[in-house]
Amino acid sequence: MSFEASANALDFLKQYETLDGIDVKTLMDSVSRGGLTYNDFLMLPGKIDFPSSEVSLETKLTKKITLKAPLVSSPMDTVTESEMAIHMALLGGIGIIHHNCSADEQAAMVRKVKKYENGFISDPVVVSPTQTVGDIKKLKQKLGFTGFPVTENGKMRGKLVGIVTSRDIQFHDDDTTPVSDIMTKDLVTASGNVNLTTANEVLRKSKKGKLPIIDEEGNITALLSRTDLQKNHNYPIASKSFDSKQLLCGAAIGTRPDDRLRLEKLVEAGLDVVILDSSQGNSIFQIEMIKWAKSTFPKLEVIAGNVVTREQAASLIAAGADGLRIGMGSGSICITQEVMAVGRPQGTAVYNVTEFAKKFGVPCIADGGIQNIGHITKAIALGASTVMMGGLLAGTTESPGSYFYKNGQRLKSYRGMGSIEAMEKQDTNDNAATSRYFSETDEVLVAQGVSGSVVDRGSITKFIPYLISGLQHGLQDMGVTSLAAMQEGVDNGKVRFEFRSPSAQLEGGVHSLHSYEKRLHN
Ligand code: IMP
Repeated sequence: MSFEASANALDFLKQYETLDGIDVKTLMDSVSRGGLTYNDFLMLPGKIDFPSSEVSLETKLTKKITLKAPLVSSPMDTVTESEMAIHMALLGGIGIIHHNCSADEQAAMVRKVKKYENGFISDPVVVSPTQTVGDIKKLKQKLGFTGFPVTENGKMRGKLVGIVTSRDIQFHDDDTTPVSDIMTKDLVTASGNVNLTTANEVLRKSKKGKLPIIDEEGNITALLSRTDLQKNHNYPIASKSFDSKQLLCGAAIGTRPDDRLRLEKLVEAGLDVVILDSSQGNSIFQIEMIKWAKSTFPKLEVIAGNVVTREQAASLIAAGADGLRIGMGSGSICITQEVMAVGRPQGTAVYNVTEFAKKFGVPCIADGGIQNIGHITKAIALGASTVMMGGLLAGTTESPGSYFYKNGQRLKSYRGMGSIEAMEKQDTNDNAATSRYFSETDEVLVAQGVSGSVVDRGSITKFIPYLISGLQHGLQDMGVTSLAAMQEGVDNGKVRFEFRSPSAQLEGGVHSLHSYEKRLHN
């Protein structure tokens, strides 16, 4: 058979050719020789007829929580405390606060995230006219902001008499001066029943930093802040609760009896989603915890795990999990597979668990082993709804700890929660690391993780937008306009895969250069 005109190429393809590459089932079935992970395959390109900026990355974290970006920071003590959780949520993902600390410390971190960006601040810090300039300076240092309403009795719901801002105390050297002498008395206020949009408009026009909301008697009932307005402006895809407009916040707990008390404190602090943190989630302790948490806090979303098989997933879904966390042994700091001889290559684990969980509408997090943007795209192509990252985020400004230099490189510490260092953290009785690995009562601690360092990645306010933009470009190359469309294409066989031999993997990386510098974004 011969073909005269190249214009016939498309018709020919439709009539006679099978699609290039293989479908996901064939990719996974063809590997009875062993499990696959992200580097072992690629997706084939599709057709581009839309800009990458149009690609939607909206996805589910749990049955009831939707995020604009599929990105979750791991509950590890070198990755997620309030700073990380605040910025992950501002940038469209979510942070899960670690539990290698006391329940009160963890609840305080959750509270800080929930208080970060308020619509109306319902319990602002209020001062009295008799407090001093020195007191205000101390408060400023402790809280990092000023703009305190002044009420007659120094309490919330007291009669508003002024507001004290940084300008009022800026050049005032006498710390003993009472607030009443320096406070601003010329106030712009709004009345108690104003809605958020109107109040924001009043604040914008007033050019003031804060807008106190008062009732008919002049008592303060709430406060609106210009910096919050600014934040709303800068973070259009922030993950927020529908009703309170507060940032979404997650936290991890263990499955011991004490963890019930911990969860009560976290829920009181405003927690939206809890992750039951265990390296092997299919345990009677976790099943009981899921049932208890779901019946005690019906509004709280509960993510169970970790799992890598359908059988494990089935147990936790049956117990009522709203989401699952997949991964055993894939983390960058992890030695579980080496020491325990159990685990599963992450690509195979994600494919098998998600294929099962989606039948029950349970979204899954692909947790661990994410080294680059391509791995995120692949995890989601295999069925995950979100990815959880530890190492990739540990070197950012927002992770706990300070930078240090080694051989001229700026680094931060990053350690596995199953490392001896994390398990031996003795300043609290609530060691999350040992409970994660069921090792609380062991005399000899068997490490399942290592302790190391990662390079400085700058602030996540640049790094997360880089991940998001990279993901959008990846999907554009595949010719799909959303994560949902990519998964649909995978399911119906239109998104095609190719197995990657070890030499193909070498070819796909930088090679044959004398030297190079790998800059990932500007
Ligand atoms: P990474 O993103 O590849 O660095 O992996 C992070 C994930 O590794 C976490 O979210 C945990 O699921 C897992 N993990 C954390 N600590 C340990 C450990 O000590 N041993 C094994 N896995 C760990």
